[in-house]
Amino acid sequence: MVRPGTRGVVLDLDDTLYLERDYVRSGFGAVAEHLAAGWDVDAARVREHLWRRFTEGERGSHFDDLVSGDPALRDRVHVPDLVEVYRHHVPAIRLLPGIEDLVGALRSAGLRTGVISDGALASQQAKVDALAVDRLIEGPVVLTDVWGREGWKPHPRAFLHVQQAWSLPPEDLVYVGDNPHKDFDAPRDLGWACVRLRLPGQLHADVPDRVVPDLTVTSVGALAEALTPAPRLR
Ligand SMILES: [Mg+2]
Repeated sequence: MVRPGTRGVVLDLDDTLYLERDYVRSGFGAVAEHLAAGWDVDAARVREHLWRRFTEGERGSHFDDLVSGDPALRDRVHVPDLVEVYRHHVPAIRLLPGIEDLVGALRSAGLRTGVISDGALASQQAKVDALAVDRLIEGPVVLTDVWGREGWKPHPRAFLHVQQAWSLPPEDLVYVGDNPHKDFDAPRDLGWACVRLRLPGQLHADVPDRVVPDLTVTSVGALAEALTPAPRLR
């Protein structure tokens, strides 16, 4: 057990419950279909172009570059509309193998389970719905964007919210995340244990630790081992 006496485990969503790159690919597909339906462009070509740029490391300007670089779209397509399509599409994503069993084991062991996730509210809600997170996780499922951008990690508000919802002290709680840029500042400052899940294919897999977590695991199986209480000897 990462810390004896743990009574609640809160998980991040993106790149912790599922692989975020799958959401990105799914969203690009939705945007490509949207463009093909309204303008003279080939959906497969658009999808491949966006995905190639993403795998090359492009972040944040995919749609601007796509529109400005294509005479069929330039001055006719509004990039904010594409962002809306992306955020509101029904994503084709799946829980990482082993996550369902892990959460089931935690709940069977009597631990509370919750989620804290940043990101545009429409996107995050669509992911929660697609993954049936509300059925998996006891809750709360905190989407920090309900408080606006200032409520996103590393702001401690979501972590304080969970402490209060469960009436549990910080030392009884664990946060599991993947992103060294922002996941562990607030829980560490508050006194939670921090676990980094570091898997191939995560967007931040290669980012070095900034706040050093209590534990880093490199598989969902190892995470389950670290979080599930050892069976008592009879
Ligand atoms: Mg994440």
